[in-house]
Amino acid sequence: MSLNENFFKYPEEIKPEFIETEDIVFRDGSRISAADIWHFMTEEAPVRYPYAYTNNRYYGRRLSGDVRLPSSIKHNYLMLTMNDRTSRARENGSPIIFVQGGQSVDPYYAAGGIALRPASTGAWARGKEEGLNLREEEMRSLDVREKARKAISFEICQTAGYEHIQEGNLPVDMVAPYLCLRCSDVGYGVEAHRHGKRKIGLFLVDFPLDHQKEKEWAAGYLARNLHRLTREIGKMSGKEVTENDLKEEIKLHNKGRKLALDTADVWWSASAPPTNGADRRAIFQMGGMELHGDPNASLTVLKEANKDIKERVKHSTKGEGVTDNARRLFVGGSCVFPNDFRTEEAGGIIVGNDNHWSDISTIVEETGDPYEKLARAILSYPYEQPIEGRAEWTIDQLKKSRSDGFLFLYNWGCNTQSAIARMLCDIIHEETGIPTLIIEHEMRGEQTEQLQNRVNAFIEMLN
Ligand code: SF4
Repeated sequence: MSLNENFFKYPEEIKPEFIETEDIVFRDGSRISAADIWHFMTEEAPVRYPYAYTNNRYYGRRLSGDVRLPSSIKHNYLMLTMNDRTSRARENGSPIIFVQGGQSVDPYYAAGGIALRPASTGAWARGKEEGLNLREEEMRSLDVREKARKAISFEICQTAGYEHIQEGNLPVDMVAPYLCLRCSDVGYGVEAHRHGKRKIGLFLVDFPLDHQKEKEWAAGYLARNLHRLTREIGKMSGKEVTENDLKEEIKLHNKGRKLALDTADVWWSASAPPTNGADRRAIFQMGGMELHGDPNASLTVLKEANKDIKERVKHSTKGEGVTDNARRLFVGGSCVFPNDFRTEEAGGIIVGNDNHWSDISTIVEETGDPYEKLARAILSYPYEQPIEGRAEWTIDQLKKSRSDGFLFLYNWGCNTQSAIARMLCDIIHEETGIPTLIIEHEMRGEQTEQLQNRVNAFIEMLN
């Protein structure tokens, strides 16, 4: 596939400034310089992954285009090297664990594993096939997903990496989600793996559901589940996991969480959005330390992003593609996200989303028994609380982010979010007056236009 004028290109004039920026430091202690990142992003990646360089604004995963934001280029570097890095780490003995359900990933890494959510397994799988243009890449993705739909159940809303693990070519070592944590697909997925072609380790962290935050037995029960989890992963990584390992991991992940919270406060307080929605989302999400399959690398880039954003806010610099007086939208729900670029074209901008922000914004206490402290933090995730508690926290986020509207999105088949949607939105609207819109999305990837039309109409109404 040759490149032509329809492809995005990083302009040469930004190179001198970019190559002076910081290295990315990885978990194994290795590092890559900005000059080498520049070479990869401008020479190697456009040939290996042409679809990523499309200028098509209908492709929500396209490169952000904010070329003067070094942390954005580095985030994209980490996404496009997901296959290179993850495959190498596994060859070097790190077991890969598939997770799902919105939890933090501290215990998986403490035990020497690499925890990947569905979106990250997707990025890893995309990296395995090179030279595809956007259409070829979309066809590949639809094809493997259809196989998985048939293998799991027609009731699933997304296949969550099953296709890559059972039908594809990802050497995932264990499937170990938290059961009952917001996602009804977890149960379907785990069950399907039990009769899949490939025998794979299955492990469930049982999350005690409903009103358990204050109950002592629940903290002890979940802590014992986390102990079992690290012990099982340790058997694969060859690591005898100590309390100190988990304590150190929690400290590292708390750094990411705190930095993301600080970054969000600065971003939200700015007179004009300092980045576009795609960059904002990636930067906030780095605080969860899962996004790139390497918490240390994510932390390096997040630190740089924090500085970049503070600088932009000081000079009232607006993110690329954001219109003046853009309507600010906060997204609730799970696993569905409007296209940031087209939302911005319509005069809006997505300023936050509750999914994963819930665990990123929960700081774990660093003293005492780390299993118990982690269990207490997990039990207090605002997203998992009874609806009134979740609404209270969401209202707080809407106020901090100065949102004009609240979108609640989920896939057809999502049993938890569909049950919560109406009551949550009613409480938010009654208490704040902020307009809300619920969209149930069906046939992921095939109904994006209908979804975006409704989002754009909502922005028009807010205007
Ligand atoms: S939409 Fe709901 S059920 Fe589906 S993967 Fe997301 S959280 Fe799970």
